[in-house]
Parts: sequence; C-alpha cells; structure tokens
Amino acid sequence: MVDEQLIPRGIMDKRILDAIGKVPRHIFIEEAFWDRAYGDHALPIGERQSISQPYMVALMTEALELTGTERVLEIGTGSGYQTAILAELAAKVYSIERIKVLAHRARMILDGLNYLNIVIKVFDGTYGWPDEAPFDAIIVTAGAPAIPQAYIEQLKEGGRIIIPVGDRSSQVLKKGVKMGGGIVFTDLTSCIFVPLIGAFAWKKEEDSDRRNNN
Ligand code: SAH
Repeated sequence: MVDEQLIPRGIMDKRILDAIGKVPRHIFIEEAFWDRAYGDHALPIGERQSISQPYMVALMTEALELTGTERVLEIGTGSGYQTAILAELAAKVYSIERIKVLAHRARMILDGLNYLNIVIKVFDGTYGWPDEAPFDAIIVTAGAPAIPQAYIEQLKEGGRIIIPVGDRSSQVLKKGVKMGGGIVFTDLTSCIFVPLIGAFAWKKEEDSDRRNNN
C-alpha cells in the first residue's frame, strides 16, 4: 500500500506512512474480503457502509496535520480503521458512529489491538460532541450536503477540519482551518463517500437528491 499507492501519489509524511504500514487493515474487514484488504479501493463492511480506500485515509489524515498531542473528533467510525490510524498519530480520538453494530464491531477490533486512546459513541454525529469540545482536528468520513454548524463551533482556533461536501453520489473533499472564529476552506479532491445521515445532514438513507440541511 505504502510503496505502490501512497508514495507515488504524493503522501510524504513519514509518520503517516509508518502508521499505515503498522495498522493491519485486514483485521477491520470480513474474512471473505481478505485477499483484497490491501488493494487500492474501498470495500464493503456491512450495513451498506464501506471502509475507505487507503489513499483516501492517508490524504485525509495528512490534511489534519497531527503531531501527537491533538484531541481529534471523528464522525463515522465505520470499520474503525481510520480511527486506529488517528489513534497512532494523535493523543486521543473521539469517534461517533450512528449504526450500533458497526460501532460495537469497531470497538472490539480496536480493543483487540490494544488502543487505549479511543472513545466511541453511538449517536448522530451531526451534533458533534459538545461535552468534549473544542477539538484540534475534526474528520468526517461520510458525505455531507453542507458543513454542520456544530463542527465550526467545536473546532479550536487554528484547528483543521476535513469533510466531503456535495450531493449523495459525489462530493468535494474540503479542508478547513479555523481562523478568527470562522473557517477558511480549500478544496482537495473529488471523492465518493456514503452519505452523512442525521439531523443536520441527509435525513434518510434512501432520500434522493433533496437537501434538508436547514
Ligand atoms: N472511516 C470509516 C468510514 C465508514 S463509512 C472506515 O473507513 O471504515 C461512513 C460511516 O459514517 C458509516 O459507518 C456510517 O454509518 C457513518 N455515519 C453516517 N452518518 C453518520 C452520523 N450522522 N453520525 C455518525 N456516523 C455516521
């Protein structure tokens, strides 16, 4: 993954490459997919959700500019793979997943790998995690119709947020930096994530193209 998928595409940060080299990706995936676990693609994890492509994990993690001291909020635990990468690179990870069985499976896998700096909560992550805010970094691994206000409020001054924003079938990966109380955004790449579903995002899994982010 590191030599064929990440370095040729410009992922340079040695800490990130080391973390991705260290965390066993297949553990987060059903055994039926193990022969493809380290391939250059996303894979299904059940519940109509997916584990992100390794390059996307690397790109998003790099954009967070972690040094090891940060408290990070992750929305969309999913398999828990991205959570583990964050736990390698930050002080503490607060991760929210709306689907209970995925959160529990991720918790068991992460416990099995002895991660002690991860807290997982089953909830609607579009509220953020007000009790633990502010965060140095926020990563959203599901596609949002717009940026939920809670993330802007719960990000520290100077903090980074990475979030895919767009319609249900394709998005633009945006990086934001909080400055003077607001967030300045730049576009990183186009991407395809499963929808962010909640009070301040898409309302239902099946919804067509209606935007409900009031
Ligand atoms: N980073 C994960 C990505 C999983 S896919 C991985 O690589 O395995 C995105 C996840 O976001 C799904 O598990 C989905 O259930 C979850 N999700 C969608 N909307 C959410 C919300 N409002 N709050 C928390 N999790 C959400």
